[in-house]
Amino acid sequence: MVVHCNLQNCESNSKYHRNLSFFRVPTDLETRQKWADFAGWKKISNYFTLCENHFDRHDILKKYPRALLRKRAIPRIKRAIEISGILHCIIYFLSFA
Ligand SMILES: [Zn+2]
Repeated sequence: MVVHCNLQNCESNSKYHRNLSFFRVPTDLETRQKWADFAGWKKISNYFTLCENHFDRHDILKKYPRALLRKRAIPRIKRAIEISGILHCIIYFLSFA
């Protein structure tokens, strides 16, 4: 099964980014809400995941054999969005060239 990152504009998925780890939304309601605030989710599904690009490095306790996220870790990095924003600008300019 291919896992997709549920942050809008982040294109990470487990098929093309095999070295990335993906984390399911936490069950703890408070932390879960913070994930939703970060990602802008109106509704949360238990199957939503975020890729490791959105977490501080020290929140990821280990990557192998199975990725483990620090309890109550909150995503805070939207870098992927910025990169994809730049790409969209480039594509936009190219389409008018
Ligand atoms: Zn992502």
